[in-house]
Amino acid sequence: MKNAKTRGPSLSSASSFPSAISAQTQPAGTLDTMIGSKHEAIEPAFSIFSAEAKRFPLILTLDQNGIPHRWITWQHAVWYYAKQRIAWETGTEAFTVNGGKCRNTGELSSVTAASIIAIKGKAMAIRGFNQTPPLNNRELFHRDRHVCGYCAGIFSHSKLTRDHIIPYCRNGIDTWMNVVTACRPCNERKGSRLPEEANMQLVYAPYIPNRAEFLILANRRILADQMEFLKLHVAAHSRVHLVS
Ligand SMILES: [Zn+2]
Repeated sequence: MKNAKTRGPSLSSASSFPSAISAQTQPAGTLDTMIGSKHEAIEPAFSIFSAEAKRFPLILTLDQNGIPHRWITWQHAVWYYAKQRIAWETGTEAFTVNGGKCRNTGELSSVTAASIIAIKGKAMAIRGFNQTPPLNNRELFHRDRHVCGYCAGIFSHSKLTRDHIIPYCRNGIDTWMNVVTACRPCNERKGSRLPEEANMQLVYAPYIPNRAEFLILANRRILADQMEFLKLHVAAHSRVHLVS
């Protein structure tokens, strides 16, 4: 371990992960507790939004059939490895988490995790795959590549709004198919009118991202192999394919 002062588990790259990943990551004993536990614990909750999770790339999970499921933290991935819940793994990236020394053998405990892992018993992912993902501004703006649907200008997140094509006040609903990204001036100009009433033509069409695309839109720190895998599951009409 690089830092002699701390004795907890460390995370290091087995391939081309950023060098920062070798930093100390969690209190001593956690990895060994996960590996050594004889109890079949209930799957714990590991937030992907915690400050700790944001320091490292997320791991992509699949069901046993290879259908993309969700993003998890590396701690959560280690838990799956410790509980022998990994059906198979893929991807070109891998990393190793080192724990403490075994009291009897003196060996260092460690788990090597892949960047894409299939979880045993997760064959339900296909159901989730066909569900409409939740609508959020962040993912909406990413779907539309931060391009205003009316003037075609490219803006930062803070200058964009969610425009309802059929306005909310005229019974337009809040769904992926009725919303586009719009800059503030365009949104204000359109007001409570339909695009044709305002003489403002849409420069692109709205669509519902599938699960794989939503996973791409929701994670800005995707590794190249994860992106490549997810793109295979994204619909042909998606704007994700336009991103180089
Ligand atoms: Zn605009």
